Amino acid sequence: MSKKAGHQARKRFGQNFLHDPGVIERIIRAIHPKPDEAIVEIGPGLGAITEEILAVNPKLQVVELDRDLIPVLRTKFFNYPEFRIHEADALKFDFSQLVDEKPLRIVGNLPYNISTPLIFHLLSQTGVVQDMHFMLQKEVVQRMAAVSGDNNYGRLGIMTQYFCKVQPLFEVGPGAFRPSPKVDSAIVRLVPHAQLPHPAKDLGTLQAVVRTAFNARRKTLRKALGGLVTIEQLQALGINDGLRPENLSLADFVSIADLLVNEKGSEQGRVQDGVPSAGDVGEDSYD
Ligand code: SAH
Repeated sequence: MSKKAGHQARKRFGQNFLHDPGVIERIIRAIHPKPDEAIVEIGPGLGAITEEILAVNPKLQVVELDRDLIPVLRTKFFNYPEFRIHEADALKFDFSQLVDEKPLRIVGNLPYNISTPLIFHLLSQTGVVQDMHFMLQKEVVQRMAAVSGDNNYGRLGIMTQYFCKVQPLFEVGPGAFRPSPKVDSAIVRLVPHAQLPHPAKDLGTLQAVVRTAFNARRKTLRKALGGLVTIEQLQALGINDGLRPENLSLADFVSIADLLVNEKGSEQGRVQDGVPSAGDVGEDSYD
């Protein structure tokens, strides 16, 4: 709650406002904003991070869903005429419309209740993004950075790493926020690959293979992917069918997906150059 700004934090918008100056400073140092960059903040709230970025980059743009916060932000930052507020839902927002010359640097202390669908929405727009810095629930950052063999390895990590380099930066305890969340948080930096390290012939097929595999993460590949590929096909790819989905690397999943595309034949295989459209990204669970 912030009485000073006349705004009561709303749970349904995932509002936990940062108030620890040391943490805010660390985040700003990690972002390292510069004057002539195209920076976009998602969910500025009462402007804790906004204020510090604006001091360096007065052309900052923000996307905020809670309409009660808009006048608070306008008043607080009235002396920045180039500051732009987009009153919109970041989940549906087309970030490419903000691109002028420079790729976007996207930052935000994201609402945790929508963080995974929002990440997937942003992954679909990485073509216009230089980098992203987010505060997320600590476990979400761990899942994003997980590699094969880790027990939190799954869809979120594989699809995030398909598009981006994932760098967990530091953790932040609940006390840095008002109200305090019940979970620990962490800052992560995502840098879209200049060239996809393992481009799939068809992104939708890759997503389907990964989803199917992790729907049965405790089973062997033979069973988990039984409806999609045969044991012989897995063996031909050099993949042991007795392993579990969590043992496969991104490259393995891409090779399985490409095999399915090749099988379908060129007339049906929809090649997308590795760039997904927003419609490819569903909003079911991503673990
Ligand atoms: N950045 C601020 C606020 C973080 S709380 C700080 O660090 O203090 C999360 C913010 O995201 C709130 O301002 C909330 O209103 C906003 N928000 C929630 N859902 C959103 C959505 N779908 N699109 C854009 N902003 C959203």
